[in-house]
Amino acid sequence: TVKPVAHEVVLIEGDGIGPEIAAAVRLIFEAAAAPVRWTPAIAGGRAFAAGVATGVPAETVDAIERARLVLKAPLETPVGHGGKSANVTLRKLFEMYANIRPVKELAGITTPFSGRGIDMVIVRENVEDLYAGIEHMQTPDTAQALKLITRRGSAKIARAAYELARREGRSRVTAVHKANILKLTEGLFKRTVEAVGAGYPDITTDHMIVDACAHKLVVAPEQIDVAVMTNMNGDILSDLAAGLVGGLGLAASANIGDHAAMFEAVHGSAPDIAGRGLANPTAFLQAGLMLLRHLGEARAAARIEAALALTLSEGRVLTGDLARGKVEAASTMAFAEAVAANL
Ligand code: NAD
Repeated sequence: TVKPVAHEVVLIEGDGIGPEIAAAVRLIFEAAAAPVRWTPAIAGGRAFAAGVATGVPAETVDAIERARLVLKAPLETPVGHGGKSANVTLRKLFEMYANIRPVKELAGITTPFSGRGIDMVIVRENVEDLYAGIEHMQTPDTAQALKLITRRGSAKIARAAYELARREGRSRVTAVHKANILKLTEGLFKRTVEAVGAGYPDITTDHMIVDACAHKLVVAPEQIDVAVMTNMNGDILSDLAAGLVGGLGLAASANIGDHAAMFEAVHGSAPDIAGRGLANPTAFLQAGLMLLRHLGEARAAARIEAALALTLSEGRVLTGDLARGKVEAASTMAFAEAVAANL
């Protein structure tokens, strides 16, 4: 057999539990012989400590420009240094305009929604909307924020949603919006998604007002397939959706731009448990699986995913957040070794 060519991926180990969950994912990828070659790089707390004001050193920017792929563990946002977020810097620097959040039931994870067949993808616009952060005080007693929506930005995220639907054999894209009230901004977004959708006759387009979508996510989440939305609506609803399938601790997301893609766990650096081998590496491993699929390495991803599902459903080796007193809590690395053994 021919050994597959390894893809170069920048690995940012991050802060808090970051180095622990990164070591776990490296172990599993190595055991699965996943065709990835890591280039370690620094961002976040270690960069701030070294005096890099943005939290992203020039060497890291260069490495990402070269590899164009990043697996990133959580980065701490420093409080009190002007509050710049290295995460936001990375997303903006590489214009990662699409945030992709798969929401799917995981074998072995029981929730009030188990068994309903939840399997959706939330596609969130990642750089526009209120999160451009353009705010000012009109008077000492009146604050104003600018909601920025462009046809170009809306068309890009819409195309990302339809392309994803096609690639994954999904049949429907729902534009989620608040165009009934915000007729210009949310209206432009909705109309642009519909216009882009006209070019994808194989995929059904429909739309839903964001509050109705929140309701639908709770009463009939299995009916949602691909949902595309503006930045703030997506921020809120994607966390809600993650809660349906076991919570933020298991969820991963991809940040996609035209020149680079970055994969990460949804959770933060968990400073309260850092350095003690308590962290669950599942979310970061899911980010790694999204990376493999993005690279077209679907077989390697499926193999690791099956080993993860087996480990979770056996329920013998689980980190404390999932063991919940039913079995003795295993360490981060013991869990990773169990997944590797199940490959
Ligand atoms: P958090 O997600 O780090 O922690 C919330 C709770 O969940 C904590 O009790 C933590 O112990 C637990 N938890 C999180 N991940 C876990 C895991 N893998 N295994 C077991 N338990 C886990 O949220 P926070 O405390 O609000 O944020 C801490 C830091 O992380 C902050 O500096 C924040 O800015 C940063 N953050 C970074 C990202 C990112 O890099 N994308 C995302 C969110 C928060």
